[in-house]
Amino acid sequence: MLDFIVQNAASIILKLTTMEDSFLDELKNVNLSLPGKHRCELHSPDKAYGIAIKYCYEDADNKLWAGNDEYESQVNYCPVCGYNAKIIAKK
Ligand SMILES: [Zn+2]
Ligand SMILES: [Zn+2]
Repeated sequence: MLDFIVQNAASIILKLTTMEDSFLDELKNVNLSLPGKHRCELHSPDKAYGIAIKYCYEDADNKLWAGNDEYESQVNYCPVCGYNAKIIAKK
């Protein structure tokens, strides 16, 4: 068993990493799809440094967030459809 683990260490680590990524994606999707909460997706072309906003959603505290898969910013209205945030972000 130990031999098997040592010989296959690289692929086992790869497998675990992949599992972790898909698990995180799953968690994120659950977060982004709260029932009764606002959510929009923006299908923007790629320009300059990349796509800043891919989605916008309302969290459990009614704050509105716009972002991509890496960064999110609290916003006062939806950049996709103009929906107004129930909780206003500080200036
Ligand atoms: Zn939105
Ligand atoms: Zn919207």
